[in-house]
Amino acid sequence: MDQRVRRPPGLPIANPTTSYWQSPHEDFANLRSTDTLPLETDYIVIGSGISGSCIAHNILTRRPGAQVLILEARTACSGATGRNGGHTKAASYRSFPMHAEDLGIEEAVKIARLEYSNIKATQELAGQHGIQCSLQSCNTVDIIYDITELEEGKKAIGMMQAALNPEEGAAQYTIYDAEEARKRFLAPGALGAFEYEAGSIHAYRFTHGILKLALQKGLNLQTNTPATSLLRLPADNKRRWRIETTRGSVLAHDVILATNGYTAHLYPSLQGSIVPLRGQVSRQRLGSSLPLLSRTYSFIYAGGYEYMILNPHVRELIIGGGLGKLAAADPNAYLKEFGQSNDGETNPWISGYLQRCTRDYFGENWGTDDPVKGWEKEWTGIMGTSADGLPLIGPMPNEEGLWIQFACNGHGMVLCLKCAEALTDMLLGEEDTCKEWFPQAFKITQERTEKRYTGRL
Ligand SMILES: Cc1cc2nc3c(=O)[nH]c(=O)nc-3n(C[C@H](O)[C@H](O)[C@H](O)COP(=O)(O)OP(=O)(O)OC[C@H]3O[C@@H](n4cnc5c(N)ncnc54)[C@H](O)[C@@H]3O)c2cc1C
Repeated sequence: MDQRVRRPPGLPIANPTTSYWQSPHEDFANLRSTDTLPLETDYIVIGSGISGSCIAHNILTRRPGAQVLILEARTACSGATGRNGGHTKAASYRSFPMHAEDLGIEEAVKIARLEYSNIKATQELAGQHGIQCSLQSCNTVDIIYDITELEEGKKAIGMMQAALNPEEGAAQYTIYDAEEARKRFLAPGALGAFEYEAGSIHAYRFTHGILKLALQKGLNLQTNTPATSLLRLPADNKRRWRIETTRGSVLAHDVILATNGYTAHLYPSLQGSIVPLRGQVSRQRLGSSLPLLSRTYSFIYAGGYEYMILNPHVRELIIGGGLGKLAAADPNAYLKEFGQSNDGETNPWISGYLQRCTRDYFGENWGTDDPVKGWEKEWTGIMGTSADGLPLIGPMPNEEGLWIQFACNGHGMVLCLKCAEALTDMLLGEEDTCKEWFPQAFKITQERTEKRYTGRL
């Protein structure tokens, strides 16, 4: 791991795999709002994933008339957001005990509440603006295959229910024993299950919806324009930063890095503390005997999990993961997924595993693979992971005018929107607005930037 985390991420590669979500691409995937880059601007947001897009939209909503430029290395929303698993699932009980122990119960509660409210806020925002993004609000189930995971899960749920208001959505869980779980969720090997509220989203379309709103408010979007370096200008300059790109340079007062797993390319001192991790996802047709499922799923075993959402209308599912099983089968191959920023290829071992695991998880309830379209599409994407497993949000220490929203650790659909809200509060000098609900543990500090990455938390 030590060797892997020292690999510089580089810029996003030019020819990534195409995800299911990006087929077809949205209309303005290659948009350049102006033929040339402006010489200067108020705000530069680097990266057009859900983080960068929400931040740009927030600024333009709260400061109408501000000049906001997004630089995107590839097509709009072509990073993790455009190639994820689409699961809006907090699973807060899984990290709650660790957060309570490391950060205190108050912070653990804030994190759980933020995750839940992020799901709700995403749904509300999409509804408010009529963004068509296949949003599903439904229950999810964690099928548990390991006795320790089961016992620890039950304990963690008990802990959360004691710490939160029992009426709160974030504290609502139903626990099933093996027999009930097998019958109810068609999962023959289950030792037990936990059911709670979650959902799914077409994050690529959602983010394009946000970008569209921001464009209507004056956003300058420049796709296929990688930022190649940052330069801090002397203090007497009106603009504090100069950003070099492949198409010239731009001056800005504030720069926001929303570059996820690639951040260390622009800010090398973060190398080794934030690390790209490649994830893989596939779309499959449901087996012949499987009825339409009304919940999303996770399949949890010792050392890992898979996650699955469903498109009931067309009898297809989207399943991601495989890393835990790869770790057990071939630890060196597993390590190679860390420090890995090549999303132009898939890992053949994970492809094979994801293909067969659905049959294993559902057993005879699966039936036979769809004869025509059993194994349809697969793709990879690059997550950003941090040394302490938490996002890094806020002003970069000792770098006036440089901001970061980073490392939602494969969990961005339940973190990015609310983190973007908090980041905007800080950026606009209104941090008091988010103080009450935003976990202070998410704020970037010098100490956190110096933590060395030792593995996924
Ligand atoms: C395979 C996979 C499956 C996932 N599944 C889920 C899931 O089911 N549920 C969930 O909650 N989370 C999931 N995640 C995580 C989630 O997608 C991310 O946490 C979230 O999308 C991060 O959003 P972001 O905007 O911060 O980063 P990104 O979406 O990665 O956006 C960063 C952008 O910055 C651009 N960029 C980088 N460097 C530069 C540069 N130098 N110049 C210009 N542009 C640059 C990139 O091209 C990219 O578009 C998954 C991630 C992956 C990869």
